[in-house]
Amino acid sequence: MAATEIISAFSYACDTISAKLSRGERVLLQDVSFSLSSGERLAVIGETGSGKTMLALSILGLLPANVRMQGGCIQMDGTALPTGKQLQTLRGDKLVYIPQNGAEFLLPARTVRKQLYDSLKKLSLPQKEFPQLAAEKLRLAGFDRPEDVLDKYSFQLSGGMAQRVTIALAACSRARLLIADEPTNGLDEAGRAQFFALLDSIFPDAAKLIITHDISVAARCDRVLVLCGGQMLETGTSAAVLSAPRHPYTKALLAAQVANGMQPSPILREGVSGCPFYARCPEADAGCLNGAMQKHTVGMSEWWCCHA
Ligand code: SF4
Repeated sequence: MAATEIISAFSYACDTISAKLSRGERVLLQDVSFSLSSGERLAVIGETGSGKTMLALSILGLLPANVRMQGGCIQMDGTALPTGKQLQTLRGDKLVYIPQNGAEFLLPARTVRKQLYDSLKKLSLPQKEFPQLAAEKLRLAGFDRPEDVLDKYSFQLSGGMAQRVTIALAACSRARLLIADEPTNGLDEAGRAQFFALLDSIFPDAAKLIITHDISVAARCDRVLVLCGGQMLETGTSAAVLSAPRHPYTKALLAAQVANGMQPSPILREGVSGCPFYARCPEADAGCLNGAMQKHTVGMSEWWCCHA
């Protein structure tokens, strides 16, 4: 019997993303690939400048004008994502973004009601149902009394309320992929737990890409992908990668988290290596200057390093 092909809810493969600068071309992301099943959560972690945001923007089709993706393929339910206007129609419907700062993301001149109605229009539902649906989406996002929020502007909402309004807006969709960028910034442990409970109850079948620098958030995900200098250095189940990191960068990242919040450390070593962590790696040696990065696999972890 022929093996049945399992189609991922979402898959991403990118050869390069590069920026055209006045002093030449700069590679921002290289050889990154992963796939997600329905309902699965993948945390993308890495310090500032590691390529997390470029990865998200490339999926959303929102790369800056001087940045382009070359090679690779992005698929949703086995079909390549379209580009241009067709991709625009998917954003806010099948492809949903939850921003870092809800208050900044909401349109200041439109009430919550109007923004919810704008999102509902994308679903081509009868307009007479909008009042009931808007209230329903706010209830789903944790507002017991939607009528208290519907006619408010973003500046009249607290940070936590604004974040829940963005979740209500996201709920006006048929999301297959959710991208949440540092979604729990500024929330305490209870707030983080509530955020993930909401995601799972509102979008049980959507694949979820969670961009974060917070290891406690990564630990709530099924799998982790570690980016450094635009390269994928380690990936695996959260349990495996976070409890027993294999790559020197992941080890440093986890160790540095409390100390410096994953800000880049000063450069320690000079030289040109294919490894983006070479300048700061405590395990580097001369072999790293010449050797190619190889893939290693142990249990539920994979990592790329020129040493075993
Ligand atoms: S390739 Fe060398 S520099 Fe890079 S992580 Fe491995 S040991 Fe460190």
